[in-house]
Amino acid sequence: MRAFEAACALARSHGVRVAFDDLGDWAPAVLFSEYDASARTIAVNLRIATRFRERLGETFAGDFCAAAVLHELRHATAGDGEDAAHAAVRAAGFEPSLYEATWRAVRA
Ligand SMILES: [Zn+2]
Repeated sequence: MRAFEAACALARSHGVRVAFDDLGDWAPAVLFSEYDASARTIAVNLRIATRFRERLGETFAGDFCAAAVLHELRHATAGDGEDAAHAAVRAAGFEPSLYEATWRAVRA
């Protein structure tokens, strides 16, 4: 979970907290995470994190959580859109499409 801890520390340095939450709906659109601006809180999808940990282990799950936090933190700090958020995740060494593809494979 080292990558996740680092992402959480970065979020904290911006005054943003990180939580896990059941973000509901499994389909058709998958919500990996969301940012609540009023609470300054990033919520990571607990169901997805748990399933990734069960199926693929702690490191993969931690990387997913880190990528989710970095994605939302980009929205939170820069206020810009999806392309920039994905770019921020890639710049940190994570591939956003990996998590989307993996979730399709293990969600059932
Ligand atoms: Zn986004």
